[in-house]
Amino acid sequence: MRSSPKNARTRGPGSTREAVCCPGFGESSESLIRPIVRNLSGYVPGEQPKIKCLVKLNTNENPYGPAPEVLAAIKKAVDGRLRLYPNPTAERLRTKLAQYHGCKPENIIVGNGSDELLALATRAFVEPLSGLTPKNGSSEQRPATLSLSRYTVQFLQPSYSLYPVLAAIHGAQPKAIALGDDFALQSLSELEAKNWDFAAALTYITTPNAPSGRGCPRDELERLCGAQKGVVLLDEAYVDFADENALDLALRYPQVLVSRTFSKAYSLCYLRVGYCVGHPALIEALDKIRDSYNVNGLAQVAAEASLDSLDYYRANFRRVIASRQFLSEKLADFGFEVCPSQTNFIFVRPPAFPADVWLQRLRERKVLVRWFSAADVRDYLRISIGTDAEVKKLLSAVRKILAAS
Ligand code: PMP
Repeated sequence: MRSSPKNARTRGPGSTREAVCCPGFGESSESLIRPIVRNLSGYVPGEQPKIKCLVKLNTNENPYGPAPEVLAAIKKAVDGRLRLYPNPTAERLRTKLAQYHGCKPENIIVGNGSDELLALATRAFVEPLSGLTPKNGSSEQRPATLSLSRYTVQFLQPSYSLYPVLAAIHGAQPKAIALGDDFALQSLSELEAKNWDFAAALTYITTPNAPSGRGCPRDELERLCGAQKGVVLLDEAYVDFADENALDLALRYPQVLVSRTFSKAYSLCYLRVGYCVGHPALIEALDKIRDSYNVNGLAQVAAEASLDSLDYYRANFRRVIASRQFLSEKLADFGFEVCPSQTNFIFVRPPAFPADVWLQRLRERKVLVRWFSAADVRDYLRISIGTDAEVKKLLSAVRKILAAS
C-alpha cells in the first residue's frame, strides 16, 4: 500500500532537493542522515483535502461528532492550567479504562494515538539489524546466538500499511505473509505452509482487518496467540463496529497486547488518544521508552469524558453499522463486489472500469475515497461510512458515473 508521489512525505535517494555542502561531512546534507532513514518510504496518511464541500470518505473518521458532554469537558479544561504539564501516566484515564475492561491500571498504557504504541512495540520487543537496511538485511551481521526471529516484525498482507514502515524505521526484518483472496485469517497449518514465523519477536494482526474490513473470529485469534512465542499485538482500531473482540486474550496470555483507539469509535482523531492492554511486564517495557508527557492534557480529559458517555457512542456504532449494511446492499445492486465488513468502512471491487479510475471520477464529483496501489488491493476502493447525507451523495455519484460510462 504505497503512496502516490503527490502525497509523498519523504524523499527517496533520487531526491531533487538542492545539495547543501557540509564541510567535513561529505558532499551534502543528505550525508548527515542515517542511510536507513535516507532510503525510507515514510507512511502516507489519507489526504486531508483543502477543497471545501468534498464528501470525505477516505480516512475512516467517525461521521458523528463527540458527545456534547465530551466537548463541554474539553472547553471547561481550557483555562490557566494549560501552562502545566499534564499527568505523565494518564493516571485517571488508565484507572477508568481498567474499570471498563475489568483489569488493573498496570495492564494499560495510553499513547498519542494507538500509532505511537505500535511504534513503541517495535522498539521494545524487536532487535534492530545493526547497521543494515531491511532491504539488504542478511543474517551475517547478527550475533550467531540470536535467530532471525528476534529481528522480525511479522504481519499479514494486506493489513495496516504502517507496520512495514515501523519495521523499516527500526531497522528490523519485516515479514509479510499474504492473506488469501477472501482476506480471512488463515488456520495455523495454512500459515505454517506459508512460512509463518511462530517465534517472530513481534506479530501485528489487524482485527478486524484493514483495509478489507473482514472480521477475525476470537477463537481463531486465540489459537494463533497460543501458538506464538513472541509478542502478538492485536490491533483492534475498528473493533467497536464488530460483533466480537479479543480483548480478554491480552489478559490471559502474557505475550499478547491489544491496542485500541479513541480516534474511530469515539470521534477523537483530532486529539490523538490510543491505548494498549496487556501483561504488566510488557506494559512496563512500553512505558519505559515513551516520551514523558506523551498524551496531552485535553486529550486525557476528552477520553475520560468519552468513557462517561458510552450510551451516546453505542448509539452511533449502531447507526454506522446500519449505514454500512445499507451502503453495501446498494453498491452490490450497482454491480460492486463488497467484502463483508466489521468496521466503519467497506472494501469494494467496482464494476465497469479500474478502481483508480473510479477514484478520479468520484473525486470529480466531490467524493473522496481511498485507493491503494499495492498489487493485492489495487482493484479495490476503501470507502468510510459517512452520514446518511454523505452516503446518499456517494450513491448518487456512483449512479451518474455508471450512467455516463
Ligand atoms: N490501526 C489501524 C488498523 C488503523 O487504521 C489506524 C488509523 N490509521 C490506527 C491503528 C491508528 O489510529 P490512531 O493512531 O488514530 O489511534
